[in-house]
Amino acid sequence: MNIHEYQARDLLEKFNVPVPAGIVVDSPDQAAKAFDDLANNHGSTLAVVKAQVHAGGRGKGGGVKLVRSADEAKAAAQAILSKPLITPQTTAEGVTVHKLLVAAGVDIQKEYYLGIATDRAAGNLTLIASTEGGVEIEKVAAETPEKILREPIDPTAGLLGYQARKVAFLLGFKGKQVGQAAKIMTNLVKLCLATDASLAEINPLILTPPDADNPDGRVLAIDAKINFDDSALFRHPDIQGLADPNEEEADEARANSFGLTYIKLDGNIGCLVNGAGLAMATMDIIKLHGQEPANFLDVGGSASEEAVTEAFRIILADDKVKGVLVNIFGGIAKCDTIANAIVTAAKEVGFTVPLVVRLEGTNVEPARKILQAAQADIPTMTVGSDLTDAAKKITAAVA
Ligand code: GDP
Ligand code: MG
Repeated sequence: MNIHEYQARDLLEKFNVPVPAGIVVDSPDQAAKAFDDLANNHGSTLAVVKAQVHAGGRGKGGGVKLVRSADEAKAAAQAILSKPLITPQTTAEGVTVHKLLVAAGVDIQKEYYLGIATDRAAGNLTLIASTEGGVEIEKVAAETPEKILREPIDPTAGLLGYQARKVAFLLGFKGKQVGQAAKIMTNLVKLCLATDASLAEINPLILTPPDADNPDGRVLAIDAKINFDDSALFRHPDIQGLADPNEEEADEARANSFGLTYIKLDGNIGCLVNGAGLAMATMDIIKLHGQEPANFLDVGGSASEEAVTEAFRIILADDKVKGVLVNIFGGIAKCDTIANAIVTAAKEVGFTVPLVVRLEGTNVEPARKILQAAQADIPTMTVGSDLTDAAKKITAAVA
């Protein structure tokens, strides 16, 4: 699960990672008022108006604007809210911006990257840091990987003091900056462990120029992205409450509410499968025979007829779908449940596209009878004798 920058900043504050003050707004007038409030309460003469969307790369897409007056804040908010935001991480159509963060602006001496990510090979969290922070970290990782530092994190001990100081020195921090940076790293790791975060990124972590109170400057987080492990969300109702339905694919959210795992893809063969492994194998075999799957859909082990009917509604509502392949190995899920759902979906939505069904396992005989009886009502349906036969039939049908 993903959250917004403003929510991630709140969490950082809770874990004593310093961030500039900010106010969330949803209109240009509120943005102007927020600028005045930051000026009055924090003495800010600079603010940043930032689109709150789950996609990154906002700066490049015009979703982050520096402003120096309430009028400028209003104009920036107007500009960002008035059209979809297109960034390197969104689709070509972009995403609608519903909320803005107006944050106190800071002067930047240098930008760094700091992240905690799951290292699947090592089976733990890893701290990742770089002196090349800012908006091009993906490019740094691809072109100059030696500029990325990695430090493994012990899941019980967290980040140890010497590790944090080592990374702070390697990043080139001096004097009082070392302690500030090390504390931020240690606290970011605490945040990840306490919330079951799978990714926490501060990009950029910044150093401000020296001032009278801070002769070595201050180390601050001015952007934050946090992802959480969905499987651990049940332990964190407060974090579940941060979910924003505006940011989720409508189809995927609908499928989730029926206990289905659905991910939309770019191809034209809709797949309805039980079990993630079988779903992957089904996608592979479609590709092997020269076509592309339109979705990944796992109806799960104990799918009800209602949930499977919903799955067909979702697949058939996608106008890219030119054929549907049903591949069910009935174990706990029963073939006759699926057959009944096919009949219901045919009545409700209608299979105007070719449908190939391959069923095997529990209750396969009653399922075949149900489908035979319904054949006249579902003229586009054929039966696959095995997975290869089914894949050949559906790929030939859409070719
Ligand atoms: P992103 O593009 O979605 O990663 O959004 P960021 O919040 O990281 O902002 C992009 C860039 O805008 C940062 O890397 C900074 O260079 C700049 N920026 C953001 N906030 C400030 C600020 O308070 N002061 C200054 N001078 N620049 C900022
Ligand atoms: Mg950023």
